[in-house]
Order: sequence, then C-alpha cells, then structure tokens
Amino acid sequence: MARYTESQCRLCRRETMKLYLKGDRCYSDKCAIERRNYPPGQHGQNRGKLSDYGLQLREKQKIKRIYGLVEKQFESYFKEADRQKGVTGTNFLVLLERRLDNTVYRLGFANSRSQARQLVRHDHFLVNARKVNIPSYLLRPGDTVAVVEGSRNLHIINESMGALPRRGLPAWLDLDASKFEGTFKVYPAREEMNLPVQEQLVVEFYSK
Ligand code: SF4
Repeated sequence: MARYTESQCRLCRRETMKLYLKGDRCYSDKCAIERRNYPPGQHGQNRGKLSDYGLQLREKQKIKRIYGLVEKQFESYFKEADRQKGVTGTNFLVLLERRLDNTVYRLGFANSRSQARQLVRHDHFLVNARKVNIPSYLLRPGDTVAVVEGSRNLHIINESMGALPRRGLPAWLDLDASKFEGTFKVYPAREEMNLPVQEQLVVEFYSK
C-alpha cells in the first residue's frame, strides 16, 4: 500500500500546526513549525482564504496525517463510524484511537505513531497475552497491551517510556510501567481526546 515517505515536517507545515509525527524533535526548537510556521512551497506564505470545501479538506488531511493513514483506510473508518449509533464525528475519532499502533503510542511505548506501527509489525506486543502484529487491530474495553518479555530492554521502548510524562497518559488508558503493560479501560469521550481537530468538517466533507 502506498505510504507517504517524504518529510514528515512538511505535513505539519502544510497544516500550519504541530502534528507530533517525529517524537522528541517535536518538543525541541528544531521543530519546523517553531521556525517556519507557514505552508511549504513557493506560494506558501501567499495562500488566500480557504473556501468551505478547502477547510473541510484540510481538516480531513490533518486527521489522516496525525494517525498516519492512507485515504482508503481513512474512508473505511468513516463509513464504519457512520454506520454506528451516536455522533458520527466522535465515533470516527474513537475508532482511530482504538487502533493498536495508536494505543502503543499513547501508552508511551513509542515516540510517535509511525514508530509504534513499526514496533507492532515487528512482534514486540501482546494483546491479552497473545502476540498481535497488526497495527490496525481495534482494542475493546478491558483489553491489555504489553511489551513481550524479550523486548523490554529495547532502548527505543525505554527511551519512549521516559518521555511519557511530557505527553501525559490519556484518561481511558491505564499503565503499569513496571510490568510494561497497559489497559484500554473504556472507549474515550470526545472531551478526553485532546485533539485539536474539528471532526464535524470531515463529516461535512464526506456528506457531499
Ligand atoms: Fe511536526 Fe514534529 Fe516536524 Fe515539528 S518536528 S514539524 S511537530 S513532525
């Protein structure tokens, strides 16, 4: 499946906000948004006002980039959210938050979602004590996510866990750092998902 392989910072600059795609660097003064907070390209600083469609498109792209998804996956999450009861926009974000790679990142076992995805693919995690290497695996309340025993001394995981206090643990997760294990307690409420996005614009984008 085609995946974006160019500069991650360029994506943040396109959305003119930090999307936290590169771990530690995002919190340092090397962050491109700290230095050049305008869209990349020759006309980056001279773009006019966005139309309604443009605003919806940018919001869709922003969320897609935060979670590192390709268009097809993103759209299928939206369709699933639309089929569920309740507020489509919230359902949509909850589905994205339930992904295993996202939860590994949120629990602090990885510095970014892309790093989490790679660690999951390389068999470093157990879900409910069974190996799962599918980044898109959707967690349910009560599921546990643990680092496999042989990977607990990996520098990349320990370094990331050390940086968790700076990011904070979301309310819907529990972490027992001594056991390298976290629990997905409940589906998150919208106000608990500290995401600077307007998911309603994505609903409007797909409602056309
Ligand atoms: Fe985005 Fe992080 Fe790059 Fe800053 S350092 S522009 S937050 S990916």
